[in-house]
Amino acid sequence: MQHYDITTIDGDGIGPEVCQATVAVLHEACGSRLRFTAHDGGAAHYARSGAVLPADTEAACRGAHAILHGAAGLPGITYPDGTEVGNDLHLQLRFRLDLFANVRPIKLYRGVQSPLRGWQPGQIDYVIVRENTEGLYASRGAGINLRGELATDTLVVTRKGVERVARFAFALARQRSGAPRDSQRRVTCCDKANILRSYAFFRAVFDEVGAAYPDVQRDHAYADAITVHMLKKPDFYDVIVAENMFGDILSDLGAGTVGGLGIAASAELGEHHGLFQGAHGSAPDIAGQNLASPVATILSGALMLRWLGERHADADLLTAASRVERAVEAVLAAGETVPRDLGGTASCTDMTAAICRQLG
Ligand code: ATP
Ligand code: MG
Repeated sequence: MQHYDITTIDGDGIGPEVCQATVAVLHEACGSRLRFTAHDGGAAHYARSGAVLPADTEAACRGAHAILHGAAGLPGITYPDGTEVGNDLHLQLRFRLDLFANVRPIKLYRGVQSPLRGWQPGQIDYVIVRENTEGLYASRGAGINLRGELATDTLVVTRKGVERVARFAFALARQRSGAPRDSQRRVTCCDKANILRSYAFFRAVFDEVGAAYPDVQRDHAYADAITVHMLKKPDFYDVIVAENMFGDILSDLGAGTVGGLGIAASAELGEHHGLFQGAHGSAPDIAGQNLASPVATILSGALMLRWLGERHADADLLTAASRVERAVEAVLAAGETVPRDLGGTASCTDMTAAICRQLG
């Protein structure tokens, strides 16, 4: 029986709490088939050691079957030049491991109240695929600030970058089960092709790639308009693909429509590596108090099992992925153990214990 090596990086803030909660749940679901090894990294580690992403952590990530990450970033920790360390650990992993597709499911679970009125579980179930290695954020650290008078950043869109993330989005649309209201498999390209030539290029390459997927509908939306559509007709969407910054913003908005950051999972995938963590950051305001919801990270763990299961043709892991997701849903639907961000009083460890019991 195959075993899988999982490198875990707790990171900063609530990272250790939610990461360890997820290890406990995944262990319950898969037993000793997953071998977890913890490694250091992040802003607090930088303050202690001078390294954000230590060489042995990077090597462990490269050597593992998958990476589970809590969260990175703490305010007030700076490099010698005064710039914030922030979530550099996470950004460095993205770029070094070339994790180009950031998959963020937007799914309304039973037991969770959407702030949008009238929507039932099953009606909001789509995926945002955020391009993760270029776009406007590629300018980070490379922008210009001219003597405090003018500042610029560069939005980078490459053919290779769009081709691979668009292919990923179309392939995902073909294989996923969540159905939009008209059952039409669909990829929506989110851009501002009407204003910037970089986004017009993004759309043109998206269309070229989409021509090879005639069974999947190609749809386009401007980034401003889609924010309204996501609130008014969330059941229309299937897969949305977007440039890095737009994808970042849309995925927080989408998360808000299905219960918030504490429930939003995320998978960052490349050709060779996969990194899994909640869509939220390190939430320093609630760190170390057992207040954080581990649900986002646990659901990201389920994404990890599914990704590993598909990659290694391992049906048991696919089953385990569904079991974890159903256990989370059952706990939320029962309404007895509800995390604080969803209006309940359950602590991080309460949630973890309830989900483990459901699995057991
Ligand atoms: P980043 O820049 O890394 O995206 P951020 O500044 O957007 O981080 P987050 O850490 O994502 O901030 O969280 C914003 C707020 O949402 C937190 O301060 C916290 O109050 C709440 N929050 C985030 N994650 C959780 C969670 N897992 N459980 C409960 N509340 C959370
Ligand atoms: Mg954020």
